Amino acid sequence: MLDARLWKPLPPPDGSDATASSDAKEARVQCRLCSHYCIIPGGGTGRCGVRVNRPDTPGPGVAGPDVTGNAAPVGRLFTLVGDNVAAVNLDPVEKKPLFHFMPGTLTWSFGTMGCNLACSFCQNWSLSRPPAEEGVVRGQRTTPATLVAEAKANGAASVSFTYSEPTIFFELMADTADAARAAGLATIMVSNGFQSPECLAELEHRIDAANIDLKAFTEHFYATQCGARLKPVLHTLRTIARMGWWLEVTTLLIPGLNDDPDELRDMARFIRDELGPDVPWHLSRFHPAYRLTDRPPTPPATLERAWEIGREEGLHFVYLGNMPGHPAESTHCPACGALFARRDGFHTHLPASSRCVRCGAAMPGVGWDTPEN
Ligand code: SF4
Repeated sequence: MLDARLWKPLPPPDGSDATASSDAKEARVQCRLCSHYCIIPGGGTGRCGVRVNRPDTPGPGVAGPDVTGNAAPVGRLFTLVGDNVAAVNLDPVEKKPLFHFMPGTLTWSFGTMGCNLACSFCQNWSLSRPPAEEGVVRGQRTTPATLVAEAKANGAASVSFTYSEPTIFFELMADTADAARAAGLATIMVSNGFQSPECLAELEHRIDAANIDLKAFTEHFYATQCGARLKPVLHTLRTIARMGWWLEVTTLLIPGLNDDPDELRDMARFIRDELGPDVPWHLSRFHPAYRLTDRPPTPPATLERAWEIGREEGLHFVYLGNMPGHPAESTHCPACGALFARRDGFHTHLPASSRCVRCGAAMPGVGWDTPEN
């Protein structure tokens, strides 16, 4: 358990006696890491299940002694996932998915348990849900220096904060990002985009690329399926585009929940108009998981129609995910349509240069011109 960052103490609730109180529950704090802004009583836990308020009782005079000389407890927020990881792997960067960022390289990927959302369809629920639902946090002890040393030893070109939700392991992400950059590694965040603006500001100069979920385009979906809100996610996407990280967007298409063509068209227009037509949009196939087992995997025709909508709306790069071998995994030149980079699953057949062989147009992204090319 380590001290958490991005939180503030709150005064006791209305009606209680701030100076005389010795009730630890009244030593409240507000976590400011994500857009839930949880208010956590002394002894309590945030919605993610991995940030806990364990009040301190300072000496007399520090927090306002009562008439007997006792001091009121003061809230103090800790993280349960600041020094442990629950999943670590060496992945192709295409698996994040990032198709236009250092293509063909490997990324040292890790995540802790816990998540700030509660998506009914979570595809990683064995990692994300136990802290909030069972009070269980498992993981192997580690440090930022260890993670970076492992990344280098395994030939990774980057470190990825991924698998569950990196927002809730912000402290480990921030310190590992600093160490990774100092060691010449790039940094990647794969996230639901529900960070607070304060959290994003802290990350601005630590992250190079992100894949952010845009799970749907209605507040109703975010409220009923994820226990969250759409508006903060849109703010995150706009902010990342403005900050200049390389950005790609992912939508898991779920039959009957977020596959309405009009909604998909609205999403495509948002990406085009507010993030830019070069931002890749990954449309991913749903498989029944966690609490959403009452519907089938996404029909390929639904994914292909969504792909068409993205292209009709002017997005230059729309990809289908969880569809191995589908032609819509590959990158084509937006100017002339020539095949630029063919993919088989997570393997990219790298082009000879960052320019289209037919028309010479430059391909958007980072790292197309690698030394191997
Ligand atoms: S990270 Fe989000 S869900 Fe977790 S305690 Fe902080 S505000 Fe709440």
